[in-house]
Order: sequence, then C-alpha cells, then structure tokens
Amino acid sequence: MRLSAFALSTTKETPADAEIVSHQLMLRAGMIRKLGAGLYTWSPLGMRVLRRVEAIVREEMDATGALEVLMPAIQPAELWRESGRWDLMGDLMLRMHDRGEREYCFGPTHEEVITDFVKRDVSSYKQLPVNYYQIQTKFRDEIRPRFGLMRAREFIMKDAYSFHMDEADLDREYHVMRAAYTAILDRIGLDYRVVAADSGAIGGAKSEEFHVLAQTGEDELAVSEDGRYAANTEAATTHRPEGERAAATGELKKVATPGVATIAQLCQTLEVPAEKTAKAIVVMGEDARPILLVLRGDHTLNEIKAENLDGVATPLTFAEESVIREHFGAGPGSLGPVNLNIPVIADFALANAGDLVVGANYDGAHFVNFNWGRDSIEPQFADLRNVVAGDTSPDGSPLQLLRGIEVGHVFQLGDKYSKALELTVLDENGKAVTPQMGCYGFGVSRIVAAAIEQCHDDSGICWPTAIAPFELAIIPIKADKSAAVREACETLYAECRAAGIDVAFDDRGLRPGPMFADAELIGIPHRIVVSDRGLEAGTLEYKGRRDSESQNIEHSMDAIKQA
Ligand code: ATP
Ligand code: MG
Ligand code: MG
Ligand code: MG
Repeated sequence: MRLSAFALSTTKETPADAEIVSHQLMLRAGMIRKLGAGLYTWSPLGMRVLRRVEAIVREEMDATGALEVLMPAIQPAELWRESGRWDLMGDLMLRMHDRGEREYCFGPTHEEVITDFVKRDVSSYKQLPVNYYQIQTKFRDEIRPRFGLMRAREFIMKDAYSFHMDEADLDREYHVMRAAYTAILDRIGLDYRVVAADSGAIGGAKSEEFHVLAQTGEDELAVSEDGRYAANTEAATTHRPEGERAAATGELKKVATPGVATIAQLCQTLEVPAEKTAKAIVVMGEDARPILLVLRGDHTLNEIKAENLDGVATPLTFAEESVIREHFGAGPGSLGPVNLNIPVIADFALANAGDLVVGANYDGAHFVNFNWGRDSIEPQFADLRNVVAGDTSPDGSPLQLLRGIEVGHVFQLGDKYSKALELTVLDENGKAVTPQMGCYGFGVSRIVAAAIEQCHDDSGICWPTAIAPFELAIIPIKADKSAAVREACETLYAECRAAGIDVAFDDRGLRPGPMFADAELIGIPHRIVVSDRGLEAGTLEYKGRRDSESQNIEHSMDAIKQA
C-alpha cells in the first residue's frame, strides 16, 4: 500500500475524552472515529487490524468444524418473550417497532435466534452435534459506554452455539471451543488467562472467561501461582441460587442474608454447624479500616489476634474491640459464615482453613452484605491485596491478583433455551429429547483495543505481528532530491509485494521525523529506511518496532526477510 493513497489520519494530540491508552492511541492513529456514545466508524487502517483478527477467529473456528452462518441483527420480540428474557434484559436491550407496531430488538446476543433456526432445520439425532457461529454486530445499551471499543454499545462479536444429544457431548464440544480460543489468543500473541466465571443472566452451569492481562482491565482475577486455580473475583461475589456453584470456587457458599443483625443469627440462617471455627476473619474497622483477624490452630475466641494488613499486630481501638467482642465473644459456635464481598479473602481463608469467614461492619449494625457494591469495597480491597498475595496456602501456592480484559467467554448452557423454545429432536428410539446447548462468545472488536492495552510504548502501538495493519514500512529519506532513493524504494516495494510482505510505502513526501512518528504510532512491526548514504554503502537501515537501535543490513530481499 502506498501511504499517499491510504488516507492515513494521525494526530499528536491526546484526545481529551479518551481515558485509557488503547482508546487514545486508536484515535491518534486514526483507526476509529466516534459517531456517538459507544458508536465508532472503523477507518481503512482500523479495518486492516479488524480483518486480521476476524481471519484468525474464522480459521480457528472452521478448523473445529463449526459452521458459519449470519443471523439478523434485528430480532422479533416474541422469541425473547418465549425464552423469558424480554423483560429480564431491561435497558441493556435496544427495542424498536416496525410500521406495523410489531416489537423488535437489536440483538445483544443470539441464543433465541439460533435455537429457532435449529428448531426449523434439525429433527433427528443424526443431525447432531452441530455448532453454528457468526461474526456480527451486536448492540448493548451499556450503562457506561466507555474506553472506546473496549466497552462500546455497537460492537463486533464472534458468537457460536452448539447443540448436543447429551451433557457428555456438550462437555466434549465445550473443551473443543476452549482449545480454539486458546489457539486464537496464542496466534494473536497476547498474554492471557482462562478463569472460572459467573454465568450471569445468560444462565447455565459451567462457564469460563478468557482475559487479556492489562492494568486497565475492568475485571479482577485471582490466580494461583501453580495455575490450578483461576477465577474472576466477580464469580465469587455474585449471588447465585443455592446449590449452583462456580467450578473453581467449589466450596464457596453464596447466600444472601437479609435482616440478619448478629453473627449468631447469621450462623443460624446459614445453618453453620456450631463447632466450626474460622481461621481468618475480615472486619471493617473505624473509618472502614480493614482488619484481618487471624485465628491460628486451636486458638479460642478469647485469643483472637488483630493483625494489620502487613501482618503486624495492631492495637484495636476501644470501640473496635468492643464491637468485635460483642460479635465474636459469644463463644466459638458463633463463628462461621462466608463473607463473599471480599471474595479473595474468602477464597483465601477457605483455602487455608477449609472453614468459613465472615465480615462485619465496624459499627456492627449490619454485616458486610453480599450485595455490597464493588465500588465501595474497592478501597479496602486494594489494601487487602498485599495480605492475600503474600500468604501462602498450605499446599504452597500463593494467590495472585491480576487485572484482565474479558475477550472471550465459553458457557455450558444446558437445556435452558432449547426447553424454553421447545426444541426437541428424536433419538435412536424415536423418543423426543431436548438438546443440550453451549455458547461461546469472542469480542472481535474488543480484542483490538485489548491488544493495544498490552502492547504499546510512549511512541504508540506495538502490534503483535499477527494482527498488525502492515508488516513493514519503507521510508525514503529525501526522495524528492534523489532519483536513486526513489528508484530503490519502488524496486523494494515491488519486491516485497511479490514476496507476500504486507508493506506500507511512505511515498507522502514528508520529512523523516513525521514519517518515523507515524510508523511508530500506527505500530508497524518492521521498518526499512532507504537513504543515499545507505545506497552508496550497499545497505538499508532496519529497525524492529520494539528495538531501541536501528541496524544496517545488506541491501537485499534475503536480508529483509531475515530481519
Ligand atoms: P462484560 O463483562 O465486559 O460486560 P459480557 O460478559 O457482558 O462482557 P458476553 O455476553 O460474555 O459479554 O459476550 C461475549 C464477549 O463479547 C465478551 O467476552 C466481550 O469480549 C465482548 N463484549 C461484550 N460486551 C461488549 C461491549 N460492550 N463492547 C465490546 N465488546 C463486548
Ligand atoms: Mg456485559
Ligand atoms: Mg463479563
Ligand atoms: Mg461474559
């Protein structure tokens, strides 16, 4: 591509309304332009990256045998009424009418539509299993659209839906999809973690998320160093119906406790056996000061030691002590229930003690409530990180807290949608069976932003080669004054293209500074500079995007390919 014909539109200024670096750099590089809240146009430069992501996703999905479809973005309300989600989705869903006053929504997801499709086409066990996927525009009226494409309202998702005769076959396909997501992220070349997740409003049993690690990530992940435990802390905080448990948080008991005013009542509500004793307890001290009370071995309640967050014994204030005594001083039997609002502490304590943990407000008026907002827990939680990170569990694997960007999500849905929409197929014996379903979402547009969050420096984006808009930049020095430079560049450009290298030839006639700055800002992984001096010496100047220094290489295609 000749940049003179590419409508590149870069800027040095950091846009005032862009909070995180990926949003800033996408705007500065001219990859996207804002149309309205959470609505963006992809420029030709942005499209090059988006298409590469799509190609990788498509190849890996095709390789699993999943079949591509394209469903309507606009969906009739009746389907959503049948599944019971028309009301459940609330304001997240953009609703509309046609001229005949029929109700529709702009699809935030497609479980209903695909189930309807399968219902019309599939009637026998011989047609299962099947896995359909699409790469398509979704609309979610997010409460806070922000961070550009990271949390847009209109965005591009790859969503896949599989149908099975039984749970075992669903489980098999789930692992095929999990492996495909791993392959996609490995190919793109990002640092990521797979974590246990909460299945939220979509429902279902097993679910895991794929998170690209980045400080700006909206999710917090608790990951053990040996890698055996990894969960979105959201999964540990969300209330879920009795009996349904997140896979990795296995033992956590999640129960709301309305109207409970004392520990004893709480124990009673949660049916905690009286003989249970907690080994670690988090309470909120004065001014929401977090206090970690540690009970070791066979300590009795009278021996509760208060430790501050550095593990150093810290005196309790009189008020704190009396509140704590009031609540914990009723004897060992009064200890027990789980505080899930400090999820990692709860996990940590469970891992350490195999027992239960409770949090109480300093004022004792109410216990830390399971529905307490994350925003309010965040300040205390930040301090608690150190404690969690530095305590080793008995099996020797410390927990680490990481921040992540959710780029993929795989679910085992079970029969939730097939049942609601009355999808049945006949088994070998001619008996009607309700198929098991899985669904698998991947944020095609979000991962472009996530890649930038992870891969950038002060000069701009440092694309992983697999999704870079161009592989190589050719930059001529003083081309206007040198026929030799012009000629050498044209020849190189033609040779690179013939060799299948995706090259951006900067023939815009700019000064070297702006050309270098643009190549770095838009993140081209490799750069060749052609100058009279180099041509005389038979060399080209090469610099990798992340290299600190350039180097002279032989003026030949072989040398370029090697670099
Ligand atoms: P989040 O927790 O970030 O709101 P989600 O759990 O609601 O995401 P899913 O329903 O699991 O999202 O959708 C599958 C994928 O679609 C997500 O893993 C994410 O990559 C992408 N996605 C979801 N919402 C958005 C959005 N508003 N903007 C861009 N991508 C999104
Ligand atoms: Mg969401
Ligand atoms: Mg999520
Ligand atoms: Mg999700």
